[in-house]
Amino acid sequence: MSYTLINPATGETMETIDHVTVDETDHAIERARVAQKEWASFTPAERGEALRRFARAVENDVETLAALEVRNSGHPISQARWEANHVRNVLDYYSAAPERMLGKQIPVAGGIDITFNDPLGVVGIITPWNFPMTIASWGFAPALAAGNAVVLKPAEWTPLTSIRLGELGVSAGLPDGLFQVLAGKGSVVGNRFITNETVRKVVFTGSTEVGKGIMRGAADQIKRVTLELGGKSANIVFADADVDKAAATAPYSVFENAGQDCCARSRILVQKSVLDRFMEQLEVSVSKLVVGDPTNEATEMGPLVHASHQAGVEKYLEHADVAFRGSAPSGPGNWFAPTVTMSRGVTDPCMTDEIFGPIVTVHAFDDEADAIEIANATEFGLSGSIWTRDIGRGIRVSRAVESGNLSVNSHSSVRYNTPFGGMKQSGLGRELGPDAPLHFTEEKNVFIPAD
Ligand code: NAD
Repeated sequence: MSYTLINPATGETMETIDHVTVDETDHAIERARVAQKEWASFTPAERGEALRRFARAVENDVETLAALEVRNSGHPISQARWEANHVRNVLDYYSAAPERMLGKQIPVAGGIDITFNDPLGVVGIITPWNFPMTIASWGFAPALAAGNAVVLKPAEWTPLTSIRLGELGVSAGLPDGLFQVLAGKGSVVGNRFITNETVRKVVFTGSTEVGKGIMRGAADQIKRVTLELGGKSANIVFADADVDKAAATAPYSVFENAGQDCCARSRILVQKSVLDRFMEQLEVSVSKLVVGDPTNEATEMGPLVHASHQAGVEKYLEHADVAFRGSAPSGPGNWFAPTVTMSRGVTDPCMTDEIFGPIVTVHAFDDEADAIEIANATEFGLSGSIWTRDIGRGIRVSRAVESGNLSVNSHSSVRYNTPFGGMKQSGLGRELGPDAPLHFTEEKNVFIPAD
């Protein structure tokens, strides 16, 4: 089996990728099991040093990785470079973890009680197509740091940077089989991560629908899972905010990566008294967005990842009140102009569905209570922003919105040194931040009597 990749910006056919079979997946998992034993025998300092070598290999390859992501995923080159550097940073950050897996000493009667954080063994990571290399690194870096082996399955459409990262791990001298990238179908390779008993944890990032199936399947073996799923995040703009700044930055909170971002603030909730001013300013900022050739340094938004995805996004315009649109190239490639619609109410599909494309919907609200109620009227709870000059309101609303990652007067969401993950049906568990390696361990408790 194989899959032929298509450049999303040009429609040109690119290389064909061989897909691994169930037997080959089992073979890779067995190699990973053996490699993990060797990895666990390294001293913590040696494991940290190996991860730093991996980070240096990524650093020296930033241009190659970025160029692959431009070709394969249509990411603008400036963004793709940021992503490759982010992978380097994630590896550097977690390279300090092996020497900091401290455990605890717990005061008890009659002796001492200590805890160990033992690696799980083999970890399976399944990634989506929207941010292939960064999302992979959020799983593999802390998992390796905690002493595990990793098998990584990238999405069918976007395997190239993950395959390259696998090669870089080998060139950095990681033990043979410790970090393997297996290109293949979700229903074959991804599913085998769930059913093969040697894989002790699965980190899944993707749609809520597939994530539910992963969780059901994992129950058979009480397999550990982390789920990073969909989102429908709110960008809440109060009348007392710097409305011009909110309008100037809003496009970057939803149209980055052509809206194919789980953290996209795809619902903009604006207080009624400033709606007209906000819309005027938003139209200006959307019209300035540079959409086009992702190899161009100035490009801010590229194409959608695949023609079939583009068709799915376009369907939403059939029943939407379009307020205005930005620009997009015509001709070959999966182009879609950034689009702003006016909400037809809280049940409007543009208000409820994770479109995962460059469509944002504006909905007017009355007061703080109304804003919170609308923001929470979704099964998702991943991200969001709150714009206000009232510090107390910023605190109240950020505590009331049911979402894992919020920012006040900014659209910041993912930093490698802070925890990231979703509430409600946006996910289960957290990635990144100082505790991530612990999520790839079992805590073992040992009592030693003093007599
Ligand atoms: P998807 O669920 O279709 O696929 C994700 C991955 O799962 C792919 O590698 C796919 O091959 C694999 N897969 C599919 N069926 C499988 C099965 N039965 N068993 C095992 N693996 C299987 O998602 P997608 O379309 O690639 O990505 C878009 C989705 O990802 C959006 O919903 C988006 O919100 C979500 N996402 C979430 C986060 C987050 O951190 N919360 C980040 C990025 C993307």
